[in-house]
Amino acid sequence: LKKAKKEQSHYFFYDDSSEDSLYTYEMENELHRAIKNKEIVVYYQPQFNMKTGELFGFEALARWRHPKKGLVPPNQFIPLAEDTGLIIPMTELIIDQVCQDYVSWQRSEMNVPSVSINISANHFMKESLVEDLLAAKQTYQIPDDALQIEITESIMMDIENGIEALTQLREAGIKISIDDFGTGYSSLRYIRELPIDFIKIDRSFVNRIDQSDENMIDFIIQLSKLSSVQVVAEGVETKEQINYLLSKGCEVGQGFYYFKPMPTEEVFGLKVG
Ligand code: C2E
Ligand code: MG
Ligand code: MG
Ligand code: MG
Repeated sequence: LKKAKKEQSHYFFYDDSSEDSLYTYEMENELHRAIKNKEIVVYYQPQFNMKTGELFGFEALARWRHPKKGLVPPNQFIPLAEDTGLIIPMTELIIDQVCQDYVSWQRSEMNVPSVSINISANHFMKESLVEDLLAAKQTYQIPDDALQIEITESIMMDIENGIEALTQLREAGIKISIDDFGTGYSSLRYIRELPIDFIKIDRSFVNRIDQSDENMIDFIIQLSKLSSVQVVAEGVETKEQINYLLSKGCEVGQGFYYFKPMPTEEVFGLKVG
């Protein structure tokens, strides 16, 4: 058995022949097939103005509708997609799906102000991403300010390249949001100088385990005021959290208190106002 395995090892993408790489190789093949068969689908989590209850927009979140395993969450396939480069065709598929869904919401006269798409840091640095986004916006005639991308702070590490791409997107009417803010390496300078529209307060702070989380929320909100970006809270689960955020001046939020991410069919049935 050991020998057979060794002989096969040249088929493997990874250069060692441990169980791990066998697993990864199969997963990679499967993921490749999943993209081709459109098993990667988009769920949407609504975002609200917590003061008025108005719909602010949706965050698009990837799911793998696996024929055997059921609905697989993104943390179980996004890292592999990033490592193998499959994140590129996968994101193309997601962008396309989001635009199609947006158009069908429009047709049914739903007023959806915006929809935001998560973009992996290493993918962001590829020129093709900006091109893909602009092409999709054009093809589906998505109005200005309706599309948003969410990127994490790690992008700012490579600021010189990032700034050009961000500017290009923004000039084309696509908004920029910094995701999971406060969990990575941030520089105040970057927040001030980068063309950014929103910063998202990470769920770990919204949970408010201790005083330092509250300090962090305060800090992020103050920072947003100084740099005229808008804050969005993620992972809002209780009325108490909502009241706290509102008292601090954060008005937009998303979380299980309102809705979990839902398939596009359910978005049509959403009663908001
Ligand atoms: P994220 O962008 O920070 O998304 C927020 C995550 O928090 C989502 O998990 C969402 O379902 C979850 N969440 C929202 N509200 C609550 C709440 O009240 N309580 C709790 N416990 N969780 C809440 P999800 O969908 O599993 O996504 C996890 C991460 O995977 C995302 O974090 C994002 O980094 C990544 N991801 C998801 N879709 C994509 C995608 O299309 N492309 C890329 N590159 N990454 C994606
Ligand atoms: Mg996000
Ligand atoms: Mg987030
Ligand atoms: Mg987060």
